[in-house]
Amino acid sequence: MRVTILGFGGWVSNPLFGQPAYLVEEGDAKILLDCGEGTLEKLFKCTCLDVSDLSFILITHAHGDHLLGLPTLIQRAKHLGKRLNVVAPPPVLDSISELLNTLQVPHYINYVDATKLHPEVWVRLSENIHVKAINAIHPVPSFSYILRVGSKTVAYSGDTWPNDDFLSEAEDADVLIHEVSAPPGMIEEARLHGHTPSEYVLDILRKTRPKYFIPTHYFIEPPQLILGKEPYSKSETHIIFPAQCLSISIG
Ligand SMILES: [Zn+2]
Repeated sequence: MRVTILGFGGWVSNPLFGQPAYLVEEGDAKILLDCGEGTLEKLFKCTCLDVSDLSFILITHAHGDHLLGLPTLIQRAKHLGKRLNVVAPPPVLDSISELLNTLQVPHYINYVDATKLHPEVWVRLSENIHVKAINAIHPVPSFSYILRVGSKTVAYSGDTWPNDDFLSEAEDADVLIHEVSAPPGMIEEARLHGHTPSEYVLDILRKTRPKYFIPTHYFIEPPQLILGKEPYSKSETHIIFPAQCLSISIG
């Protein structure tokens, strides 16, 4: 399996970080997690793939930094005479329709094949791709995802305050992509806005013990990870500090 980071910032972080979009590849399966602004450009630049190569696009919620790249991907699909498989719970799918209405291209929804998820229910997307949505702790309807591709598991938090419902499902994941939005000293602001503060990273790693951990969705600056002095895992966790177009192979 390969995970490629197309963007890893938040809405107001350094623009050079890009906005959330991660590509998971296993064989012919190519799954995009979130679709911030500029995702099409980064898909071209980082992977040489086109939208017609994407198997599924999973969207965690309708905040702009996770969604505003999607209309451009749909426009590209329309140009190619293709349709996109978009996967999300109903509130997010409704927001996509509303966004296309606002952009005065309501008919673009005809280039979307939507798969509805319901929280806590596993859905089989194809023979070897399964996904489960988990309610996230964020001010708008938001979801974390557990994605199983073949024998591998990717757990993606989306935007959320640290959430044990998600962390228990993410235990022993091959890859954990978890937001770390708030720098040290901003715990109350993070709680108010439904984001994860740096101080909670050690607890998240203790609870999940992933093989690979990718901290993402930075606020203004990259996070300061507070890991403490004691071992946080019985087995090794590799921490991958993201960079745009960084691609890692998961054996
Ligand atoms: Zn958000």
